[in-house]
Amino acid sequence: MDYDRILIRYGEISTKGRNRNQFVEKLRKSVRIALAPFPKIKVEASRDRMYVLLNGENGQEIIEKLQTIFGIQSFSPAIKVEREIEALKQAALKLVTSRYSQGQTFKVTTKRSDKTFELDTDESNHTFGAHLLKNIPGITVNVKNPDIELRIEVRKEAVYLSCETIHGAGGLPVGSSGKAMLMLSGGIDSPVAGYMAMKRGLEIEAVHFFSPPFTSERSKEKVIDLSKKLAEIYGKMTLHIVPFTNIQQAIREQIPENYSMTSTRRMMLRITDKIREKHEGLAIITGESLGQVASQTLESMYAINEVTNTPLIRPLITMDKIDIMKIANEIDTLEISNRPFEDCCTIFVPSSPKTKPKREKVEHYESFFDFEPMIDEAVQKTETLVIKPVSKNLTELNELF
Ligand code: ATP
Ligand code: MG
Repeated sequence: MDYDRILIRYGEISTKGRNRNQFVEKLRKSVRIALAPFPKIKVEASRDRMYVLLNGENGQEIIEKLQTIFGIQSFSPAIKVEREIEALKQAALKLVTSRYSQGQTFKVTTKRSDKTFELDTDESNHTFGAHLLKNIPGITVNVKNPDIELRIEVRKEAVYLSCETIHGAGGLPVGSSGKAMLMLSGGIDSPVAGYMAMKRGLEIEAVHFFSPPFTSERSKEKVIDLSKKLAEIYGKMTLHIVPFTNIQQAIREQIPENYSMTSTRRMMLRITDKIREKHEGLAIITGESLGQVASQTLESMYAINEVTNTPLIRPLITMDKIDIMKIANEIDTLEISNRPFEDCCTIFVPSSPKTKPKREKVEHYESFFDFEPMIDEAVQKTETLVIKPVSKNLTELNELF
């Protein structure tokens, strides 16, 4: 049986009353980005459903792409049939027959969003169920746990038949929750944090601190490659590369060694916050996980977080490393993160960083030097790249942005 369309159910976004139009638009954009390699498809969206019309493109490949899109609860390959009982009987029979093997059970579930259809829900279940029983030898009804569930959706313009419901990725469409800056190192955690934030509808721009010549071009390449992976999700990723060498050297000269890491983090956060403001984001995302390293104790976070009121989102805060690595592996960033090049923080890491730094102390040490002009200079010299994913049809993508 050849499906001609895929019916997409929104799930959680359906509950977002007033913002619904915006959600639907963001989801439509995500779908078009993910399906950019299939130029013949058409996307039709309404308030509570979306349809991808296949127009001869490969349905199986499209199903695989749809499973990765945030904001889709479930979807079903479907056929559209006119609202005419004989035509529906024929189409239902053809569809179920194509999936049926000897001895299987079925049930029919009808949903009517348009009540003017001549059969009500029960009559429809009964009429089409009886037609299938009569025409498919050996088939029986099982209402609780059927092998095949024929779903009939009666809508104003037509009736849609489907037999299969596939789970989507869930979450919210990228961009529907606003924009945030992701502090992206070359490590394992921050790309995963970015992925999880995008799953909850955030559009992200990445900020990376780079300290040449202490960190090599290869470590920059690593971050670009990680950005390419994240770009797969939404068709592009803006990456801000901040020159951080001067500030790190000033910290080394001005701040006692056991507080240098705390101070480094504070400077990074101040700079990220300025870049955020410039690009109209409303939050900052990090890959921190509680207690993982010295800079991620509660005392450290308390001392570091002081420099800004901007919401800091830490999607991994309660997660174990092993579970973070599992996700990194699934989203294909683990291998890139494991490349051995130095990060700017590992270069200057003191032999014994404070695990319980005091706010007042770090403030005191920083008070002898005016970091502000250096921070402004770093923001001003930040290089901004727009990273495209490797796998998509680029001409199609360009039209979307
Ligand atoms: P990751 O695996 O993400 O590097 P980590 O376990 O190595 O994290 P830290 O080095 O303490 O932990 O970094 C904590 C967080 O600070 C990172 O997850 C990231 O969000 C941010 N960060 C660290 N280094 C950089 C950098 N060079 N550029 C941008 N952000 C950074
Ligand atoms: Mg790191």
